[in-house]
Amino acid sequence: MHGQLYLNGQFVDASSKETFAVVNPYNLEEIGQQAKASKEDVEFAIDSAEKAFKASKEVMPHFRAKYLRALHDLLLENIDEMTEIMTLEQGKPLKDAKGEVRYAASYLQWYAEEGIRIQGDSLPSVHKNYRIHITKEPVGIAALLTPWNFPLAMFVRKMAAAIAAGCVVIVKPSSQTPFTAVKFFELVEKAKIPAGVCQLLTGDAGEIADVLLADKRVRKVSFTGSDAVGQEIASKSAKTMKKVTLELGGHAPFILMEDANLERALSGLMMAKFRNTGQACIAANRLYVHHSIKDKFLEMFIEKAKDLKLGNGMEKVDIGPVINKASFDKLQAQVDDAVAKGAVCLLGGKGERVNGDGGYLFPPTVLDNVTTEMKIAYEESFGPVLAVFTFDTVDEVLEMANDTEYGLAAYAFTESLEYYTLLTEGLEFGMVAVNTGALSVPQGPFGGIKMSGYGSEGGTYGINEFLKYKMVNARVKA
Ligand code: NAP
Repeated sequence: MHGQLYLNGQFVDASSKETFAVVNPYNLEEIGQQAKASKEDVEFAIDSAEKAFKASKEVMPHFRAKYLRALHDLLLENIDEMTEIMTLEQGKPLKDAKGEVRYAASYLQWYAEEGIRIQGDSLPSVHKNYRIHITKEPVGIAALLTPWNFPLAMFVRKMAAAIAAGCVVIVKPSSQTPFTAVKFFELVEKAKIPAGVCQLLTGDAGEIADVLLADKRVRKVSFTGSDAVGQEIASKSAKTMKKVTLELGGHAPFILMEDANLERALSGLMMAKFRNTGQACIAANRLYVHHSIKDKFLEMFIEKAKDLKLGNGMEKVDIGPVINKASFDKLQAQVDDAVAKGAVCLLGGKGERVNGDGGYLFPPTVLDNVTTEMKIAYEESFGPVLAVFTFDTVDEVLEMANDTEYGLAAYAFTESLEYYTLLTEGLEFGMVAVNTGALSVPQGPFGGIKMSGYGSEGGTYGINEFLKYKMVNARVKA
């Protein structure tokens, strides 16, 4: 593969002609070269976006909805090719990649329908002959910076809302997974979206971001990724007062009350822990199981988890490789640290390299007797490792689950209305799934609190991130 930038409605090489290698995380073989944007390319993208934004003010929401619908249809027509590219560069099993394409498409559909319903307000004044109107306008040029774990959905979720709002976007996907984005931009070209409305930059993240963040014309930054980079982006954006959305890390608790339906909890945990090889910000990291059902549930879980097939995402497997050596080393260090401090490894625990020197596979791992001193109790794991804790009362589990600097997602299983109420109201997280392992939906706001960031994606809330309010207070008669 040879991937290019998409600037001003055209695929082009980087002006410097420089490229970088993209590797398959399963076997570490190079799968292609991707264009490495220069500073001039980034400036050109901003210039083109500025022109496109001026022109797009004339484009009515119904036309923007047409683009989004076209992208939705094209994406689903190309689902097989998109899925394969994603698995090749990211490593996730084909079935997970296919699920991600459908998930991304659901945001295009939802925002195609939502963009035509952006509403203002009209309020009574305290003075006679005055009128107060509030309208919403697109913020302008939006920079969308996204990670490798969901190479398609992370930027489509932002882009769909931004286009619906009337913004123009510059997408910068992860250097580890740029080809999925290149394929998507082929669809942008096919959908005949006007030049400059959607552009793609790839290359050195720091260099590209520095130009985007320093430019006053870029009015919005929506970032998904690590908390360290998120903080850097927030502070650099402050210099030009950009509107910022940060979707950062998580450390999700998964709570099983004593009355939980164990079969349902089992399928929920299998999904919330192992989907995407556990490399998800909303992955269940900490299992809190009521002591009365712990032995039974762990037996059921281990029985199922031990049969998961690890390997090449292109084959029929359940768990693919972790993205790189750094992720692999972090997982192994967390497990070794826990065991050294007294945790009991009930399943897995030792990662291995494919054929000795290839990619990095980490097996489903269950750590029992975990205490709060162990790294796994407070660090995001981003892999198929589960830390197990027990509890007796709802107050106790709430205190334990909330004892994290993150606040993205939480899961709770109960049949009781009282527990449902106490848990959903007491959990300090942006999102709570009850009796299901699935959480994210296009209708609702995806987003966290505390160190998990701020702002939302999805629903009406997500579109507001790309809008600004204008208030008119008018004396209409002398
Ligand atoms: P990352 O290192 O922060 O990278 C995310 C994006 O930022 C990539 O495009 C990366 O580009 C870019 N980047 C790296 N350094 C940068 C810099 N100095 N300035 C500007 N951009 C920079 O995160 P990651 O390791 O790829 O992703 C995993 C993290 O994302 C986890 O913490 C996970 O929880 C979080 N995440 C959160 C959500 C959510 O919705 N809350 C969803 C998914 C993932 P390069 O790859 O080219 O370096």
